[in-house]
Amino acid sequence: MSNYHPLTFEEAISFARSIPGHFPADAKLDCQEIGDGNLNLVFHITDQNGGKSIIIKQALPYAKVVGESWPLSLDRARIEREALQLQYGLCPGLAPEVYAFDDELAVTVMEDLSDHTIMRKGLIEGAAYPLFAGHIGEFLARTLFFTSDLAMNPQHKKEHVKKFINPDLCKITEDLIFEDPYKLSDNNNYPEYLEDEAQALREDGALHLEVALLREAFLTRTEALLHGDLHTGSIFVTAESTKVIDPEFAYYGPMGFDVGAIIANLLLNYASRPGWTKDADERRETEERLLRMVSDVWTEFETRFRKLWNEEAKDPMAGAPGYQDLYVTKVLRDTAGFAGCKMIRRIVGLSHVADIDTIEDQRLREEAQCKALAIGKQLVKNHRGVNTGDDILRLVKQAV
Ligand code: ADP
Ligand code: MG
Ligand code: MG
Ligand code: MG
Repeated sequence: MSNYHPLTFEEAISFARSIPGHFPADAKLDCQEIGDGNLNLVFHITDQNGGKSIIIKQALPYAKVVGESWPLSLDRARIEREALQLQYGLCPGLAPEVYAFDDELAVTVMEDLSDHTIMRKGLIEGAAYPLFAGHIGEFLARTLFFTSDLAMNPQHKKEHVKKFINPDLCKITEDLIFEDPYKLSDNNNYPEYLEDEAQALREDGALHLEVALLREAFLTRTEALLHGDLHTGSIFVTAESTKVIDPEFAYYGPMGFDVGAIIANLLLNYASRPGWTKDADERRETEERLLRMVSDVWTEFETRFRKLWNEEAKDPMAGAPGYQDLYVTKVLRDTAGFAGCKMIRRIVGLSHVADIDTIEDQRLREEAQCKALAIGKQLVKNHRGVNTGDDILRLVKQAV
């Protein structure tokens, strides 16, 4: 990494110019930095004549969100780029195309998706995405199935596992999701009025047991190549299109971690609705739509995953009677448990979601926070008893 340094705008523009087949030699290029600036730089390069545009993403060697003291390996840029290429190869319509990269500079050049909206923003505004469940079900089923031992030669799969060892970013997840919310930690971040709720999380032994089991699954189960950070801020959408970005947390882990991330973020938005919509009928309609989406995401994933298993499995034991059902049930239970962990950490942990934190009225914000915590705890505590997608909705309804 000797040549590594954060790019200046001029350097980003020359880099863009050097990519074959993109910009005419005499093009006048503009550059803007559009990232959130926590872990990475994101340069948006546009042609003043309105021609093509591209995105250059560059990893920074530290996480700013917790000060420069949290160093992060630049190898994650290589991991993100290889994961993007693999996801694009498996689901070309559902991920951005990678045009070029430079591992020394920790740079990936990719398709500009600025004509899409970040899904979290769209959901906060109350937008409906009727095609989303099918799209994300397809993304999850294909990326998880085809990178697992069900579809890969086990020797080849082990090479993959090695390529995607991602210790620094896994540590962020291990600490922020599976540890800090359950103890006193400087990484936790919640308002005074949630102190009783936070204390209850710290003292709930039954909850800790379920979190320990989910943490163990995250640490030890190399089922498939995960996206690893599949929240609604990592998804670009339009009414017709879905594109998944930002797989820098990619590693081999339990499939339910990715499916659960989607469901957690839909449920966080569900919990936030009273803070966004005054009209009771409109609010109920949006809430029902979000719960239907949760159920549809699971169904769309399961249907496609089973079809892939039936048509494409290479595992010599894949046809063993009952194996597919047990496997799918395992993924479903993990999905429920991980979804719950992700909801809890977004309320008391370091990093929150705008769906809830930007609700202006404090009483409505507090109600949303408590609702999200109640759903999260219900899912974690009961995840091992879930048998169908409907059971997840039943737990949600019991909690609210
Ligand atoms: P980080 O890992 O730092 O969160 P992201 O990959 O999520 O970085 O990108 C941060 C932001 O940059 C996104 O929310 C989006 O606004 C913008 N961005 C990232 N990739 C693209 C892209 N391919 N097209 C358009 N905008 C993008
Ligand atoms: Mg970010
Ligand atoms: Mg991101
Ligand atoms: Mg990221």
